[in-house]
Amino acid sequence: MPPKDGPNMTAIGQKIIILGCSGSGKSTLAKTLRELTGLPLIHLDNVWWRADRTHIAREEFDRRLGEILREERWIIDGDYSRTYEPRFRACDTVIFLDLSEEECMRGITERIGRKRTDIPWSEDRPDPELEELVRNYRRDNAPTVYGLIERCPGKQVLIFRTRTQVQDWLAELKGKEMENVYRIDRNTWRIEDGHVRFYLFCGEERAALIDTGMNRPEAKALAEKITSLPLILINTHADPDHISGNGAFEEFYMSPAEEENYRAHDGRGRLLPVREGDVIDLGDRPLRIIDIPGHTPGSIAVLDEKERILVSGDSVQDGNIFMFGRHRDLRRFAESLRHLEEFRGQFDAVFPMHGSFPVTPDLIGKLFGGAEDILAGRTSAVPVFVHGREVGLYRFDFAGFLCDLNRWPAGKNDRAAGE
Ligand SMILES: [Zn+2]
Repeated sequence: MPPKDGPNMTAIGQKIIILGCSGSGKSTLAKTLRELTGLPLIHLDNVWWRADRTHIAREEFDRRLGEILREERWIIDGDYSRTYEPRFRACDTVIFLDLSEEECMRGITERIGRKRTDIPWSEDRPDPELEELVRNYRRDNAPTVYGLIERCPGKQVLIFRTRTQVQDWLAELKGKEMENVYRIDRNTWRIEDGHVRFYLFCGEERAALIDTGMNRPEAKALAEKITSLPLILINTHADPDHISGNGAFEEFYMSPAEEENYRAHDGRGRLLPVREGDVIDLGDRPLRIIDIPGHTPGSIAVLDEKERILVSGDSVQDGNIFMFGRHRDLRRFAESLRHLEEFRGQFDAVFPMHGSFPVTPDLIGKLFGGAEDILAGRTSAVPVFVHGREVGLYRFDFAGFLCDLNRWPAGKNDRAAGE
C-alpha cells in the first residue's frame, strides 16, 4: 500500500505565518510544512540578511515583504516583531511556537556549526546578542503576539508550547503511520528519522531498505506497509544511527570490514558480505556496491545504475561529517572520494543519510578538496563540543568535518601528528 498523497491541508490554509523565539524550531517546522503542502516558503532571515552579515534597509525589507504578502500562497518563517501587524492582517493561519526559554536556548546552541538554508550563513559560535533576545522574548514579544491574536479574529491560530506538541500535530497531519515517509518516485522512498534518514528502493522482484535509521526499530514493518515485495537490508555502515531497525532482519548486506564496528554496537544477525563491484539486483534494478572506507572501515556507497542515483551513506553530504575518534581515517576518506569520482558519469543525484536531500554530484569534488586542505594543514578548526567531547570543526561553505582536535594543525604537515 503506497503512502497517502498527503494530508488534507485545507485545514491549515494557504497563507501561514510562523512566529516564535529564535531556537523554537520555526524554520524546521516551516520546511516540513512546505514538504507537506507544497506552499512556497520564505525565510525572513534570508530577506533581511546578506551573506556578509550586514542587512538591507528597513524600507527595502518592508517593500519586499509587501510583495510577498500580495502573493496568493505562502509560508512565512520569521519573528521580526516590527512587522507582525501586516503579516497578521494578510495571513489566514498563525502558528506561534511559544516554547520555554530553556528549550529555545537549547535550540540555538544545537544549531551552531550546522549548515542552514534559512539564513545566509551558518553560526559558528555562541552569539551573546541572540542569547539576550532569547532571554527576553517572553517578556518583550510574546504579549504582543497574544494581543494581535485577540485583535485579529477569523484566523486559524495554532499555539504550541513544546516540541512534542509540534511533532504530534505534524504526525496527525500526515497520518501517524507514515510520519516522515516521503515518496521520491514511483519505486523509491525516503524515511526521515530526526537527523538521519534511510531509503527504500523497490525493483520488480525485491525491495531493499538501505540502512534502518536511529529511532526506527520498526523500520522493517514500516517498509512492509509500503511494499509487499520480499525485503532485503543493505547497510552503508554500522554507526548506531544507521542500524536501529536491523534487529528485525535475520541477515543483511554489509562490508565485512564493517563487522567489528557493527558488533561493537551490539549489532545482531548474519552479515552477508558485499564488496566492491558486487551487484544486488532487485529485479530490473541493479545496485552496485562501491567500497568507500574512511568515515568507517567498511563504509560502502550503493549505485543504482538504472535510476542513476548514488546512495552515499555519511561520506557525501553537506552537514558535518564525523571524522573523529576510532575507526575514522581522513586520508582513506579522501581516496574514497576520488574513487567515487570514477563513477561520476553513472549518476545524476546523490542521496545522503544526513544533511540536505538530495545533493548534487559536484559535492564529491568539493569534499575531496576540503579533506585535502585539512590533511595539508591549509585550514584550521574551531573547537566545538559534540557528544560531550571537544573536537575540531573544519567548516567549509559546502560542508563541515568534525575531526580530533589538533590532529592536523594548520600550517603544519600531517606527518607531525605521528599516529
Ligand atoms: Zn551517520
